[in-house]
Amino acid sequence: MKLRITVETSEQTILFGVFLDNEDKKRNPKFGEFREFSFNKSGDIGFGKIHPDRLALVAILNTLPFCEKTLHLSWPVSNSFLESSKIISRIKITAEKGSVPPIRKTRSGRHALSFSGGADSTAALAIMPQTTESVFMLRTKRGGRTLYDSDAAEESCRQLRKLGFVVHSVESDFEYLRDPIGFPTDLAVSSPAILLAESRNFQSIAFGTILESAYGTSGSSFRNYVESSHYRLWKTLFDAVGLGYSLPVAGVSEVGTAKLCLELPIGRFHQSCIRGKWEKPCNKCWKCFRKSTLISALGGKEISEYATKALQTSKEVRKHLLDNSPIKHEGVLTYSLERANGGGEIFDCLRKLTRVGSINTDWMERWYGHSSTLIEEDYSQYTSNKLKHYLGEMTPSQTKDLLNWSNEDSKERRDILSELRILI
Ligand SMILES: [Zn+2]
Repeated sequence: MKLRITVETSEQTILFGVFLDNEDKKRNPKFGEFREFSFNKSGDIGFGKIHPDRLALVAILNTLPFCEKTLHLSWPVSNSFLESSKIISRIKITAEKGSVPPIRKTRSGRHALSFSGGADSTAALAIMPQTTESVFMLRTKRGGRTLYDSDAAEESCRQLRKLGFVVHSVESDFEYLRDPIGFPTDLAVSSPAILLAESRNFQSIAFGTILESAYGTSGSSFRNYVESSHYRLWKTLFDAVGLGYSLPVAGVSEVGTAKLCLELPIGRFHQSCIRGKWEKPCNKCWKCFRKSTLISALGGKEISEYATKALQTSKEVRKHLLDNSPIKHEGVLTYSLERANGGGEIFDCLRKLTRVGSINTDWMERWYGHSSTLIEEDYSQYTSNKLKHYLGEMTPSQTKDLLNWSNEDSKERRDILSELRILI
């Protein structure tokens, strides 16, 4: 009883096959018996040789949630990789028999960034060494099943290339393995960078993971990321394939990455909205709403008419505000609504809901220095210095505000939410 994975590789294409057994099918009734997903490289640089352990990590990143008991790799991997894979306690990883030496980390000094074109990964690129190579995953578009539009992200890749940055683009359809479509695991997006790592001699792969996601403050309480199961799992598996797992902006909140994008030269080549065209964000999605209030706050401006309109007309924005408790990334909203005036009665109610005036938010502008341990050692000092220079480090009392972050549901909160529901 195994979920079996096969792989075929060539210079331009890596094709994985996934065979489900009966137990896996029960877990994923819509998956079917067999599915494929692939990675296609455009441009002159191909995938080259790829170590079997790295192919295994990509297989795991993309199929872990679909496996019920055992995930079998139809190719031999190193014993040390299999040993490391025991960190995954829910399922067992097995592989074809054969002797494979493990792949060691290179000291090439060449680092990669899993780049999306959004504010967070652009901020990460801006504070990483200038030789950093970005790897963009172009999502295959199929039918009308997704609102995603790659136009803006592809344009930011083009702009960065014009400036002399190396930006690789790899197309993949792995999102379609899931129903509804989406990333099988949050780090699956780094599959293209892992697949290119040997050909490009990458020492580490960085992610644009921000403070809210790493340390839990987009939710109800602070967590020490280094002690989390997420960190232990993926750090171990990246180490096992000789790649550094690096989070240069893990100590920077969404407020901080927006500030970095405003202040650093390459910052303007980003766009958060993944629905609109380049320089024409949709102004209807949740991201646009959050970003537009944040930009108003950072510019000392009033709430924009886009934000007011989105609140009244966008189902998605209303759903985020009314159905989630706490609201996702609520702290950033508190920060913005505290500093951007106006918006009238509805925004005043939203200010009350998000605790404007009763919690401190100035720590979100600064860098959380403890996160330097999450940055690849080679450039940790370089990046830390940049962050200290552009954002400044949190003071002890700001750090305390971060560590004590708590945003729980309460009767009071539900009452304000009912008020808001009547208004919008
Ligand atoms: Zn949008």
